Amino acid sequence: MRIVVCVKHVPDIQSDRALGEGGRVVRDGGDGTLNELDENALEAALVLAEEVGGEVVALTVGPDDAVDAVRKGLQMGADEAVHVVDDAIGGSDVVGTARVLAAAITHIGATDPVDLVVLGMAGLDGLTSLLPSALAALLDVPALPLAAEVTVADGSVRVRRNLDHATEVLQASLPAVVSVTDQANQPRYPNFKGMMAARKKPVTTLGLADLGIAPADVGTTGARTAVVAAAPRPARENRVLVNGGSEAGVQLAAYLVENKLA
Ligand SMILES: Cc1cc2nc3c(=O)[nH]c(=O)nc-3n(C[C@H](O)[C@H](O)[C@H](O)COP(=O)(O)OP(=O)(O)OC[C@H]3O[C@@H](n4cnc5c(N)ncnc54)[C@H](O)[C@@H]3O)c2cc1C
Repeated sequence: MRIVVCVKHVPDIQSDRALGEGGRVVRDGGDGTLNELDENALEAALVLAEEVGGEVVALTVGPDDAVDAVRKGLQMGADEAVHVVDDAIGGSDVVGTARVLAAAITHIGATDPVDLVVLGMAGLDGLTSLLPSALAALLDVPALPLAAEVTVADGSVRVRRNLDHATEVLQASLPAVVSVTDQANQPRYPNFKGMMAARKKPVTTLGLADLGIAPADVGTTGARTAVVAAAPRPARENRVLVNGGSEAGVQLAAYLVENKLA
Protein backbone atom coordinates (compact mmCIF):
# COMPACT_ATOMS: atom_id res chain seq x y z
CA MET A 1 0.00 0.00 0.00
CA ARG A 2 1.27 3.49 -0.84
CA ILE A 3 0.39 6.22 1.65
CA VAL A 4 1.01 9.95 1.26
CA VAL A 5 1.07 12.00 4.48
CA CYS A 6 0.59 15.76 4.09
CA VAL A 7 2.61 17.65 6.67
CA LYS A 8 2.66 21.39 7.16
CA HIS A 9 5.55 23.57 8.28
CA VAL A 10 4.12 26.19 10.65
CA PRO A 11 5.52 29.03 12.77
CA ASP A 12 6.40 27.69 16.23
CA ILE A 13 3.36 28.37 18.44
CA GLN A 14 5.70 29.23 21.33
CA SER A 15 7.23 32.08 19.31
CA ASP A 16 5.79 35.52 18.64
CA ARG A 17 3.61 35.34 15.53
CA ALA A 18 4.62 37.93 12.91
CA LEU A 19 2.25 39.41 10.34
CA GLY A 20 3.70 40.64 7.08
CA GLU A 21 2.41 42.35 3.95
CA GLY A 22 -1.40 42.20 3.59
CA GLY A 23 -1.78 40.63 7.03
CA ARG A 24 -0.15 37.38 5.93
CA VAL A 25 1.63 35.19 8.43
CA VAL A 26 5.41 35.45 8.05
CA ARG A 27 6.49 31.90 7.25
CA ASP A 28 10.19 32.19 6.62
CA GLY A 29 11.38 33.56 9.94
CA GLY A 30 13.48 30.48 10.70
CA ASP A 31 11.50 29.44 13.78
CA GLY A 32 9.16 27.10 11.91
CA THR A 33 8.45 23.55 12.92
CA LEU A 34 6.43 20.52 11.84
CA ASN A 35 2.77 21.14 12.68
CA GLU A 36 2.40 19.12 15.89
CA LEU A 37 -0.95 17.61 14.81
CA ASP A 38 0.69 16.19 11.69
CA GLU A 39 2.82 13.92 13.89
CA ASN A 40 -0.44 12.02 14.54
CA ALA A 41 -0.96 11.74 10.77
CA LEU A 42 2.58 10.41 10.30
CA GLU A 43 2.15 7.93 13.15
CA ALA A 44 -1.17 6.64 11.73
CA ALA A 45 0.39 6.16 8.28
CA LEU A 46 3.51 4.44 9.66
CA VAL A 47 1.43 2.01 11.74
CA LEU A 48 -0.76 1.16 8.72
CA ALA A 49 2.31 0.56 6.54
CA GLU A 50 3.80 -1.67 9.25
CA GLU A 51 0.56 -3.64 9.60
CA VAL A 52 -0.36 -4.19 5.96
CA GLY A 53 2.98 -3.50 4.24
CA GLY A 54 3.79 -0.61 1.96
CA GLU A 55 5.53 2.71 1.92
CA VAL A 56 4.95 6.18 3.28
CA VAL A 57 5.67 9.40 1.38
CA ALA A 58 5.78 12.66 3.39
CA LEU A 59 4.58 15.67 1.35
CA THR A 60 4.73 19.36 2.15
CA VAL A 61 3.92 22.59 0.29
CA GLY A 62 5.75 25.59 1.65
CA PRO A 63 8.79 27.86 1.51
CA ASP A 64 12.41 26.65 1.61
CA ASP A 65 12.33 26.01 5.38
CA ALA A 66 9.31 23.70 4.98
CA VAL A 67 11.65 20.89 3.95
CA ASP A 68 12.32 20.48 7.70
CA ALA A 69 8.76 19.20 8.12
CA VAL A 70 9.26 16.32 5.68
CA ARG A 71 12.73 15.62 7.08
CA LYS A 72 11.12 15.07 10.50
CA GLY A 73 8.70 12.68 8.76
CA LEU A 74 11.67 10.78 7.34
CA GLN A 75 13.26 10.62 10.81
CA MET A 76 10.04 9.15 12.21
CA GLY A 77 10.11 6.44 9.52
CA ALA A 78 8.63 7.71 6.24
CA ASP A 79 10.39 6.22 3.20
CA GLU A 80 10.61 9.26 0.96
CA ALA A 81 9.69 12.93 0.89
CA VAL A 82 8.39 15.49 -1.57
CA HIS A 83 8.67 19.26 -1.06
CA VAL A 84 6.75 21.59 -3.36
CA VAL A 85 8.25 25.07 -3.30
CA ASP A 86 7.57 27.98 -5.62
CA ASP A 87 7.41 31.71 -4.95
CA ALA A 88 4.07 31.88 -6.77
CA ILE A 89 2.43 29.70 -4.05
CA GLY A 90 2.84 32.43 -1.40
CA GLY A 91 -0.56 33.89 -0.48
CA SER A 92 -2.52 30.77 -1.51
CA ASP A 93 -5.66 30.07 0.49
CA VAL A 94 -7.06 26.62 1.33
CA VAL A 95 -8.23 25.97 -2.24
CA GLY A 96 -4.89 27.03 -3.76
CA THR A 97 -2.95 24.90 -1.29
CA ALA A 98 -5.27 21.91 -1.92
CA ARG A 99 -4.78 22.38 -5.66
CA VAL A 100 -0.99 22.12 -5.28
CA LEU A 101 -1.23 19.14 -2.92
CA ALA A 102 -3.67 17.34 -5.27
CA ALA A 103 -1.36 17.85 -8.26
CA ALA A 104 1.63 16.65 -6.22
CA ILE A 105 -0.25 13.51 -5.13
CA THR A 106 -1.23 12.82 -8.76
CA HIS A 107 2.45 13.30 -9.70
CA ILE A 108 3.59 10.93 -6.92
CA GLY A 109 0.99 8.36 -8.04
CA ALA A 110 1.95 8.50 -11.72
CA THR A 111 4.51 5.70 -11.36
CA ASP A 112 2.97 3.76 -8.46
CA PRO A 113 -0.65 4.53 -7.47
CA VAL A 114 -1.39 6.20 -4.13
CA ASP A 115 -3.94 4.24 -2.05
CA LEU A 116 -4.41 6.53 0.92
CA VAL A 117 -3.74 10.17 1.82
CA VAL A 118 -3.47 10.98 5.55
CA LEU A 119 -3.57 14.51 7.01
CA GLY A 120 -3.63 16.06 10.47
CA MET A 121 -6.83 17.50 11.98
CA ALA A 122 -5.69 21.14 11.56
CA GLY A 123 -2.74 23.32 10.76
CA LEU A 124 -1.92 25.19 13.97
CA ASP A 125 -1.45 28.46 12.06
CA GLY A 126 -4.39 28.38 9.62
CA LEU A 127 -6.70 26.22 11.76
CA THR A 128 -9.42 25.89 9.11
CA SER A 129 -9.56 22.04 9.08
CA LEU A 130 -10.90 22.49 5.55
CA LEU A 131 -7.93 21.22 3.63
CA PRO A 132 -8.61 17.45 3.85
CA SER A 133 -12.11 17.82 2.37
CA ALA A 134 -10.95 20.27 -0.32
CA LEU A 135 -8.17 17.85 -1.25
CA ALA A 136 -10.54 14.86 -1.45
CA ALA A 137 -12.90 16.88 -3.67
CA LEU A 138 -10.08 17.79 -6.07
CA LEU A 139 -8.80 14.20 -6.17
CA ASP A 140 -12.41 12.99 -6.55
CA VAL A 141 -12.05 10.39 -3.79
CA PRO A 142 -13.98 9.88 -0.50
CA ALA A 143 -13.10 12.09 2.50
CA LEU A 144 -13.16 10.61 6.02
CA PRO A 145 -12.21 13.51 8.30
CA LEU A 146 -11.35 13.63 12.01
CA ALA A 147 -10.69 9.93 12.59
CA ALA A 148 -9.77 8.73 16.07
CA GLU A 149 -8.91 5.29 14.67
CA VAL A 150 -7.99 4.12 11.16
CA THR A 151 -7.80 0.59 9.80
CA VAL A 152 -7.35 -0.74 6.28
CA ALA A 153 -8.50 -4.12 4.93
CA ASP A 154 -9.68 -5.63 1.64
CA GLY A 155 -9.29 -2.46 -0.40
CA SER A 156 -11.26 -0.31 2.08
CA VAL A 157 -10.44 2.14 4.83
CA ARG A 158 -12.53 2.23 8.01
CA VAL A 159 -12.44 5.06 10.56
CA ARG A 160 -13.96 5.66 13.97
CA ARG A 161 -15.02 9.22 14.76
CA ASN A 162 -15.74 10.39 18.29
CA LEU A 163 -18.65 12.83 18.19
CA ASP A 164 -20.04 14.70 21.21
CA HIS A 165 -22.71 12.12 22.03
CA ALA A 166 -21.95 9.23 19.71
CA THR A 167 -19.26 7.20 18.01
CA GLU A 168 -19.46 6.91 14.26
CA VAL A 169 -17.83 4.28 12.04
CA LEU A 170 -17.32 5.17 8.39
CA GLN A 171 -15.96 2.99 5.59
CA ALA A 172 -14.92 3.83 2.04
CA SER A 173 -13.15 2.17 -0.86
CA LEU A 174 -9.54 3.09 -1.48
CA PRO A 175 -8.15 5.43 -2.69
CA ALA A 176 -9.39 7.85 -0.04
CA VAL A 177 -8.39 10.85 2.08
CA VAL A 178 -8.38 10.60 5.88
CA SER A 179 -7.58 13.17 8.55
CA VAL A 180 -6.74 11.99 12.07
CA THR A 181 -7.27 13.69 15.40
CA ASP A 182 -4.80 13.97 18.24
CA GLN A 183 -6.69 11.11 19.95
CA ALA A 184 -5.68 8.69 17.20
CA ASN A 185 -2.30 7.70 18.61
CA GLN A 186 0.83 8.69 20.49
CA PRO A 187 3.39 9.77 17.88
CA ARG A 188 6.78 8.07 18.12
CA TYR A 189 9.97 10.07 18.74
CA PRO A 190 12.64 9.75 16.07
CA ASN A 191 15.50 7.69 17.55
CA PHE A 192 19.17 8.03 16.65
CA LYS A 193 18.98 5.19 14.14
CA GLY A 194 15.98 6.83 12.48
CA MET A 195 17.78 10.17 12.28
CA MET A 196 20.83 8.61 10.66
CA ALA A 197 18.69 6.60 8.20
CA ALA A 198 16.73 9.73 7.26
CA ARG A 199 19.88 11.35 5.85
CA LYS A 200 19.99 8.76 3.07
CA LYS A 201 16.30 8.88 2.15
CA PRO A 202 15.28 10.73 -1.02
CA VAL A 203 13.76 14.22 -0.88
CA THR A 204 12.29 15.37 -4.21
CA THR A 205 11.79 19.09 -4.79
CA LEU A 206 9.08 20.13 -7.23
CA GLY A 207 7.87 23.48 -8.55
CA LEU A 208 4.57 24.51 -10.11
CA ALA A 209 5.89 23.84 -13.63
CA ASP A 210 6.62 20.20 -12.69
CA LEU A 211 2.99 19.86 -11.60
CA GLY A 212 1.46 21.60 -14.63
CA ILE A 213 -0.08 24.35 -12.48
CA ALA A 214 -0.30 27.89 -13.86
CA PRO A 215 1.01 30.43 -11.30
CA ALA A 216 -2.23 32.45 -11.68
CA ASP A 217 -4.25 29.50 -10.32
CA VAL A 218 -2.55 29.73 -6.93
CA GLY A 219 -1.17 32.50 -4.72
CA THR A 220 -3.22 35.61 -4.09
CA THR A 221 -4.43 35.68 -7.72
CA GLY A 222 -5.99 32.22 -7.48
CA ALA A 223 -7.29 32.67 -3.94
CA ARG A 224 -11.04 32.67 -3.31
CA THR A 225 -10.60 34.37 0.04
CA ALA A 226 -8.72 37.52 1.04
CA VAL A 227 -7.41 38.69 4.37
CA VAL A 228 -9.57 41.76 5.09
CA ALA A 229 -7.73 42.81 8.24
CA ALA A 230 -5.15 41.37 10.59
CA ALA A 231 -3.57 43.08 13.57
CA PRO A 232 -1.74 41.94 16.70
CA ARG A 233 -4.10 41.60 19.66
CA PRO A 234 -3.60 44.34 22.24
CA ALA A 235 -1.90 43.20 25.42
CA ARG A 236 -4.35 42.26 28.19
CA GLU A 237 -5.02 45.04 30.63
CA ASN A 238 -5.50 44.88 34.40
CA ARG A 239 -3.30 41.84 34.80
CA VAL A 240 -2.29 40.98 38.35
CA LEU A 241 0.80 38.88 38.92
CA VAL A 242 0.68 36.88 42.14
CA ASN A 243 4.29 36.23 43.03
CA GLY A 244 4.29 35.75 46.75
CA GLY A 245 6.27 32.51 47.15
CA SER A 246 4.70 30.39 49.89
CA GLU A 247 2.16 33.21 50.48
CA ALA A 248 0.93 33.09 46.85
CA GLY A 249 -2.14 30.98 47.67
CA VAL A 250 -3.21 33.38 50.43
CA GLN A 251 -2.68 36.38 48.15
CA LEU A 252 -4.63 34.74 45.32
CA ALA A 253 -7.54 33.87 47.63
CA ALA A 254 -7.59 37.45 48.99
CA TYR A 255 -7.63 38.85 45.45
CA LEU A 256 -10.54 36.58 44.41
CA VAL A 257 -12.57 37.49 47.50
CA GLU A 258 -11.82 41.20 47.13
CA ASN A 259 -12.98 41.19 43.50
CA LYS A 260 -16.03 39.01 44.26
CA LEU A 261 -14.66 36.24 42.02
CA ALA A 262 -14.98 33.52 44.65
C1 LIG B 1 4.02 29.63 1.28
C2 LIG B 1 2.58 29.70 1.69
C3 LIG B 1 1.95 30.93 1.88
C4 LIG B 1 0.63 30.99 2.25
N1 LIG B 1 0.03 32.21 2.42
C5 LIG B 1 -1.27 32.26 2.81
C6 LIG B 1 -1.96 33.47 2.99
O1 LIG B 1 -1.38 34.54 2.83
N2 LIG B 1 -3.27 33.47 3.34
C7 LIG B 1 -3.94 32.28 3.52
O2 LIG B 1 -5.13 32.29 3.81
N3 LIG B 1 -3.33 31.11 3.37
C8 LIG B 1 -2.02 31.07 3.01
N4 LIG B 1 -1.40 29.87 2.81
C9 LIG B 1 -2.18 28.69 2.88
C10 LIG B 1 -2.37 28.19 4.27
O3 LIG B 1 -1.23 28.27 5.06
C11 LIG B 1 -2.79 26.78 4.24
O4 LIG B 1 -1.98 25.89 3.60
C12 LIG B 1 -4.22 26.60 3.89
O5 LIG B 1 -4.91 27.79 4.04
C13 LIG B 1 -4.82 25.60 4.87
O6 LIG B 1 -4.29 25.83 6.13
P1 LIG B 1 -4.92 25.29 7.42
O7 LIG B 1 -3.81 25.27 8.41
O8 LIG B 1 -6.13 26.06 7.77
O9 LIG B 1 -5.34 23.79 6.97
P2 LIG B 1 -6.12 22.74 7.79
O10 LIG B 1 -7.25 22.27 6.96
O11 LIG B 1 -6.37 23.24 9.17
O12 LIG B 1 -4.99 21.62 7.84
C14 LIG B 1 -5.33 20.23 7.92
C15 LIG B 1 -4.14 19.42 7.48
O13 LIG B 1 -3.87 19.68 6.12
C16 LIG B 1 -2.47 19.47 5.88
N5 LIG B 1 -1.88 20.70 5.34
C17 LIG B 1 -2.33 21.97 5.46
N6 LIG B 1 -1.52 22.80 4.78
C18 LIG B 1 -0.54 22.05 4.25
C19 LIG B 1 0.62 22.33 3.47
N7 LIG B 1 0.92 23.59 3.09
N8 LIG B 1 1.42 21.30 3.08
C20 LIG B 1 1.12 20.02 3.45
N9 LIG B 1 0.04 19.70 4.20
C21 LIG B 1 -0.77 20.70 4.59
C22 LIG B 1 -1.86 19.08 7.22
O14 LIG B 1 -1.88 17.68 7.34
C23 LIG B 1 -2.84 19.69 8.21
O15 LIG B 1 -2.83 19.06 9.47
C24 LIG B 1 -0.08 29.79 2.44
C25 LIG B 1 0.52 28.56 2.27
C26 LIG B 1 1.84 28.50 1.89
C27 LIG B 1 2.46 27.12 1.72
